[in-house]
Amino acid sequence: MTEIELFQKLLRFKSLTPLDDGAFDFIEEYLGQEWTCINIDKEDTKNRFYYKKFNDKKQHLCFAGHIDVVPVGEGWSVDPFAADIIAGIITARGAQDMKSGDAAFLYACKHAKDFDGTLSILMTSDEEGEGTYGTIKALEYLKEIDFIPNFAVVAEPTCEEVFGDAIKVGRRGSINGYLHIQGKQGHAAYPEKTINPIHQISKVLEKIAGHNFDNGDEYFAPSQLIITDIRAGMQVTNVTPNTLDLMFNVRNSTNTVQEDIRNFINEKFKYTDFTLKLTQGSYPFVTNKESKVVKKMEESILRILNISTKQSTAGGTSDARYFGAFGIEAIEFGVINDTIHSINERTSVIEVQKLTKVYEDLIKNF
Ligand SMILES: [Zn+2]
Repeated sequence: MTEIELFQKLLRFKSLTPLDDGAFDFIEEYLGQEWTCINIDKEDTKNRFYYKKFNDKKQHLCFAGHIDVVPVGEGWSVDPFAADIIAGIITARGAQDMKSGDAAFLYACKHAKDFDGTLSILMTSDEEGEGTYGTIKALEYLKEIDFIPNFAVVAEPTCEEVFGDAIKVGRRGSINGYLHIQGKQGHAAYPEKTINPIHQISKVLEKIAGHNFDNGDEYFAPSQLIITDIRAGMQVTNVTPNTLDLMFNVRNSTNTVQEDIRNFINEKFKYTDFTLKLTQGSYPFVTNKESKVVKKMEESILRILNISTKQSTAGGTSDARYFGAFGIEAIEFGVINDTIHSINERTSVIEVQKLTKVYEDLIKNF
């Protein structure tokens, strides 16, 4: 089976989150008996850890991905699970996000003749959903059995314009803020008898909107407060509002934590009767530029694709953040990301072939 036939086979499983539709049984059979499979299913989520020890060295490189895909939606020009090749392109749900990456690392790992240590593969069926029982649970289990990898390559689509142009060495986190200000409602003609939360906030608004909590660094842009919603009042001109609610988001780097945001808001609103709720959607992570996995991936991309790749931390979140949280030096590299989650998601056969070559080269030279 070529890597492209494997890719097509994976695309034909209707693995809508949190289903694998039989894909994991197929993968276990595909890898064969030289690979040990650990089942780490939790609740409705399927997680699989496959590994092969080539020697007793402590070095452990893990390839990671998700088998699940988002719903297809209406308006496709082809059957989104047929995965036929038309003029060198495969149009199918999961073509970019991320069965291309899955196929490439599965093929590269199965055919690896040698590796200095242990090679492993971690896959989940819930990355596109909440992920509560996905990668995080699998990593908790690996920690329990003292089998946490040193390095990880998450095969999410990372390239921007040209295949090979970007790897991710980290991701920003996301903190949501809900600010509730308590005033005192009254008649617009008697402002002295009211506490108007809109007037209260007007003095601080320009100090908080767009505030940078840090200056950014070589990895990250500054962590900025972005106001997403303000509401108060009853759409009338003769009553002042009783309360005001403001929502905001901070895409935070590793230089800013929740406590910094809480302290800042407490200080700015100290003369106001308010409550603040902060929730952390995801935590930021970053892998050092000098990490072996970064260097080796850059070398492989240069050798196979003849491109000097750029290191990025932009974009939304991915499961790579969990690897960072377990002290694993993780990066992401995969095909071009320009049709993920959309109608007619597609990738080229040649990209998947080249991605496989890059992974093979990485394993060989690690
Ligand atoms: Zn993905």
